[in-house]
Amino acid sequence: SWNDALLLYIKHPEQYKEYIFRSEDKFLVVHDKFPKSKIHLLIIPKEEIKSIYYLNKSHISLVNEMVDLSKEIINELKKKYGELDFQVGFHAIPSMNQVHMHVITGDFISPSLKNKKHWNSFTTEFFLKPSFIIKQLENYGSIKIDKQHYETILKRPLKCHKCNQEMKNMPTLKSHLSTHISN
Ligand code: 5GP
Repeated sequence: SWNDALLLYIKHPEQYKEYIFRSEDKFLVVHDKFPKSKIHLLIIPKEEIKSIYYLNKSHISLVNEMVDLSKEIINELKKKYGELDFQVGFHAIPSMNQVHMHVITGDFISPSLKNKKHWNSFTTEFFLKPSFIIKQLENYGSIKIDKQHYETILKRPLKCHKCNQEMKNMPTLKSHLSTHISN
């Protein structure tokens, strides 16, 4: 079904060449089809893992390798495009199957960023840091979080991630975001 699309990328990479940013031994790096910022990539392990809820202690090194790869990619992109701010992480409640780590710039200037859910999923603690994932795996052997709590986070009022100002609606937020763009 629609939420298995990322799984197809690792199963049939030759059919998705236009989306592939980089192919590594253990990972595929793809362009997000609905980018929520100017640059938005997904690091996907080639090993089939349905979601972060299927990770266990044995995957700690895999997550660490995803972080290392993200650093390499970010360095490469900074060389190419100059100083950019990036954030790297996982959605607490993913919508797409197959584990994937977001590597995204902090501008959030994109026509695909359309609603409050999109906004809050990248600008609140719904966006889980890799270090949080690793800590949970070390402490509990799996991801143990209160999903209900994370669902409510998505309904929070819109707030600018840079200056914390509350925004009336998406158009207001979007025009406000452009004021944070230097150069
Ligand atoms: P999450 O499951 O972590 O919430 O996010 C899934 C991400 O996958 C979203 O950012 C969405 O835009 C992206 N996405 C959805 N369908 C496709 C697809 O078919 N191909 C690619 N490359 N990205 C997709």
